[in-house]
Amino acid sequence: MISKKKALEMIDVIDEMFPDAECELVHKNPFELTIAVLLSAQCTDNTVNKVTKSLFQKYHTPEDYLAVPLEELQNDIRSIGLYRNKAKNIQKLCQSLIDQYDGQVPNTHKQLVGLAGVGQKTANVVMSVAFGEPALAVDTHVERVSKRLGICRWKDSVAEVERKLTSIIPKSRWTQSHHQLIFFGRYHCLAKKPKCDACPLFADCREGQKRHRAALRLEGATAQ
Ligand code: SF4
Repeated sequence: MISKKKALEMIDVIDEMFPDAECELVHKNPFELTIAVLLSAQCTDNTVNKVTKSLFQKYHTPEDYLAVPLEELQNDIRSIGLYRNKAKNIQKLCQSLIDQYDGQVPNTHKQLVGLAGVGQKTANVVMSVAFGEPALAVDTHVERVSKRLGICRWKDSVAEVERKLTSIIPKSRWTQSHHQLIFFGRYHCLAKKPKCDACPLFADCREGQKRHRAALRLEGATAQ
């Protein structure tokens, strides 16, 4: 693993690449954001935004989501992966919001993770984006990028990745770094085709170096 100093230098480079990174899930309030994050598991923000465009016109409150049969809600979100389970989770979440918080989304991390269907990542996103509290949610992009760069080990759990990143990055930057790492993973260090040839971190990136050596070996084998 690389040193904390080097890791922070890398985070600074990513900061310069994506100074305006922000949440790309379209929402108007904490409740819509919570629903959108719940829908975004194993699904792109783009797909979620297409679905929530009409979903948020039809459903405005937790009561609205509970007023329809589960099958109707499933049908409304069926273009999203895992829609059956996600619809169930939305209705469970709405019921717990009504039962525990008068239909409002609570504004502490502890209360959020106590809600049905809300995990660590969702709670962190809602805390930082909706309530402006520093938090660093680890999604698939943040995890992949942190591991490729050697900030974390490949065997690290998501919780461990979050612990390491929050120990390296100053708290005042957690939220922005979260968005910047997502943008870096979504638009530059892509899962299947990372842009290593045009990467300012290439010289220090173990994954980039590994891919470069593999490409050279392939070239050598093809030339023979
Ligand atoms: Fe990602 Fe490649 Fe850059 Fe490494 S060198 S961070 S793998 S794009």
